[in-house]
Amino acid sequence: MLSFWEKTSLLQTDVAIVGGGLVGLSVAASVKEKFPEKHVTVFERSSLPYGASTRNAGFACFGSLTEVLSDIKTMGEEAARELLFQRWMGLQITRKRLGDQSIGFTEEGGFELTALNQNFTDAMQTVNRLVDDFLPDYVTQNNELKAQLGVKADGDLFRMQGEGQVHTGMLMKSIERYALQLGVVIRTGSEVIAIEGSAVRIKDSFRGEIDFQADQIVVCNNAFAASLFPMVKLKPGRGQVFITKPISNLSFRGNLHLDEGFYYLRNVDDRLLFGGGRNIDFKGEETTNFELNESIQQQLEEHLKNLFGREFQFEVEQRWSGIMAFGEDKMPIVDRISDQLCVAVKMGGMGIALAGTIGEEIAEMIQ
Ligand SMILES: Cc1cc2nc3c(=O)[nH]c(=O)nc-3n(C[C@H](O)[C@H](O)[C@H](O)COP(=O)(O)OP(=O)(O)OC[C@H]3O[C@@H](n4cnc5c(N)ncnc54)[C@H](O)[C@@H]3O)c2cc1C
Repeated sequence: MLSFWEKTSLLQTDVAIVGGGLVGLSVAASVKEKFPEKHVTVFERSSLPYGASTRNAGFACFGSLTEVLSDIKTMGEEAARELLFQRWMGLQITRKRLGDQSIGFTEEGGFELTALNQNFTDAMQTVNRLVDDFLPDYVTQNNELKAQLGVKADGDLFRMQGEGQVHTGMLMKSIERYALQLGVVIRTGSEVIAIEGSAVRIKDSFRGEIDFQADQIVVCNNAFAASLFPMVKLKPGRGQVFITKPISNLSFRGNLHLDEGFYYLRNVDDRLLFGGGRNIDFKGEETTNFELNESIQQQLEEHLKNLFGREFQFEVEQRWSGIMAFGEDKMPIVDRISDQLCVAVKMGGMGIALAGTIGEEIAEMIQ
């Protein structure tokens, strides 16, 4: 039962945001920056965000060479360029808003190792021409760097200019602090179970169901959006990673993409974080279940050994997974569904860079 005070003062908001991941908080920040007078409330089901934003690899990236080529094939040049631009722009917004230091942003290099005996000279030129006005000389080939990075596997090494890495924990802490400073209210432990007109119904483990009223509602719960809106066309996709214990004399620095981005490796100080393998079992990994798949984890370890040579020694310290959202193409869904409702979901494997742009787009829509 609600009190008089709760009913009259605490259940109304101008803008309700469903989901407190990086996108939900970026949307909250953009709306508050544009409309300081608006009351903005984020509803997050868990004590800590429980999707992808606190569980990812921290690549601040726009698309590796083979990923962009695959996007050109599936979406065409114009859409592939637009997506790269959105990611590039989004990262600028987040870096400017929060500051590089507070998100642990470094530019140690973004690389891709492609399969042996494939000639990418023309393809590289196509990609570079596409993004020349915002990412000049985006992709360059540099096989000499392989030795410097300690990479022993066959294949050509490409470098993507402007790609960096963030400390995922620091980024989330920083965007949360920023949103709170702007006056955003974050209600954790508040799972949204229905949206009906202006009512946002949440389930609270102590109180049961409560209806909040909002003028505008923005759905930012990414892979979990289908439970509220089955018509939103997306599929969940689990991402699995592990992090090693510190490795002495580790020469690898930066990000490395393999196999169209299905595998990804970075250093976290003197550790390696390695992940991916969703392509080993697409159907099985199309899930919102956070459990680990042992077989994929083992194949990830094998992959890492092949990359640095069989003599390479490492010990896994921790493994975890997160849930992403995918669709037929890689374009995020950022749309107004009704006078009161917008959605911003389907961030794929690159929500870190995208989030800044998505926030701005939604703030424009709310206007
Ligand atoms: C292993 C892994 C590695 C990745 N690596 C990278 C990377 O290196 N670079 C990169 O750019 N991207 C990476 N990603 C993808 C990136 O993390 C996502 O694109 C991004 O975090 C999406 O943010 P989001 O806020 O849209 O979704 P989420 O982070 O999933 O946030 C959605 C939030 O909604 C909440 N929620 C769900 N349902 C409800 C409900 N009914 N009511 C209230 N709250 C709800 C969830 O608890 C969650 O906190 C990776 C993802 C994974 C899993």
